[in-house]
Amino acid sequence: MTAEIICVGTELLLGDIVNTNAQFLSRELAELGVSVLHQHVIGDNPARLRELVAQARARSELLVFSGGLGPTEDDLTKETVAAAFGDTLHFDAEEWAKITAFFARTGRQPTPNNRKQAMVPTRGHKIPNAHGTAPGAWFEDDAGRCAVLMPGVPREMKAMWTEQIRPALQRRQNCTIHSHTLRVLGGESSIASKVAPLFASANPTAAIYCKTGESEIRVTARAATAQQAEADCKAYLQKFRDILGDAAYDVDVPALEYTVVRVLRERGLHAATAESCTGGMVAERLTNVPGASEVFDYGFVTYSEAAKQKLLGVDAALIARWNVVSGPVAAAMAFGAAQASGAELAVGITGIAGPGGALPGKPVGTVYLAGADARTGAGWLQRLALGGYHDREVIRTRAAMYALDLLRRMALGLPVPDATAITRQTPPEPMDL
Ligand code: ATP
Ligand code: MG
Repeated sequence: MTAEIICVGTELLLGDIVNTNAQFLSRELAELGVSVLHQHVIGDNPARLRELVAQARARSELLVFSGGLGPTEDDLTKETVAAAFGDTLHFDAEEWAKITAFFARTGRQPTPNNRKQAMVPTRGHKIPNAHGTAPGAWFEDDAGRCAVLMPGVPREMKAMWTEQIRPALQRRQNCTIHSHTLRVLGGESSIASKVAPLFASANPTAAIYCKTGESEIRVTARAATAQQAEADCKAYLQKFRDILGDAAYDVDVPALEYTVVRVLRERGLHAATAESCTGGMVAERLTNVPGASEVFDYGFVTYSEAAKQKLLGVDAALIARWNVVSGPVAAAMAFGAAQASGAELAVGITGIAGPGGALPGKPVGTVYLAGADARTGAGWLQRLALGGYHDREVIRTRAAMYALDLLRRMALGLPVPDATAITRQTPPEPMDL
């Protein structure tokens, strides 16, 4: 099936709002196996809309509209599309009752213009709007070409799409769809280059979305039965996992901390955090996860040297010798946090988030991250160079991600890339060069 997306709205043309509806609809249609040939943005202008609809109808089987269903005089989308599809509109008492009830609930009177919103297709059919006043419309001509009209308000549009239009199109396409999202640590370009051939598939499809410090890979499979779609999807996900290894940390989780909390809980472990430059971000992310209290008791924010000494027992001589931003201090923070909290695992983070504060040999973005395992007295030390991001917030966010990943790797007994093995007894090399 071929389709075109038509977003109606003068605000879109003026650049006042971003066309997120088009992005959503393109992605959804691709997953349904519908080829989107064009995306259009057009103002509330009947003559131009008429011309566009005629063109689009001549070459595509499905026209998907968002916007233009409002009550104002210039919202003429429904009338224009009805005419193009050889249909008419008639007044629908049931829709009108819903509209008047909505106004009554909000203590207002509907205007005569609101009656326009109760006009529905005669040959085609209306699409109820569970989240707003204006119903959508579905038009279909003798050749089986369709136009679906949805509200512009993203929340209403998405609900109408997901609850009503998508299932109807799936029935037409005679298929079901399953998708899963794999989360992978690392930048989009480095990940994409490793798995590039896997993005070329038409079914299952795969798409990558970049986030700070990680990427999401969404895999979607289309098949005749739900079971088959699920099996195809899982098999395709496995291909990504085989290539990406343990950087691919989980499927269908909102964020890394969810995986960390799950893994700690499954293994009956507790984690503690000792944070300087991240100021509690790791603890904050862990405690975002419902049930974090089972695995997390203590988070130390030790910003000053005195706090590191007092709360974590970091030796003043160690700080004097190596500087507070150093590998030995990060290690002492991690082991100190494990000791003070009784947790099996702990991380210590000290670094320079910038924009000022660079030291000789330690530019902004230098972060020392240590992990301590109190059960063995062993741990890991990483020197991160995050300065390329030139942004305090990004440096801190990335440092926190590395810390969460270190907890995950220690809990699972996975190797830690680019890290030095350390023990509690032997202070690590300073890693200053
Ligand atoms: P209404 O009854 O509110 O007038 P409508 O169906 O006529 O609904 P529009 O007036 O086109 O819809 O849009 C309503 C609001 O929805 C806009 O102000 C805008 O905030 C948002 N919106 C519309 N189109 C889009 C779009 N393509 N992408 C993102 N947001 C949009
Ligand atoms: Mg409007």
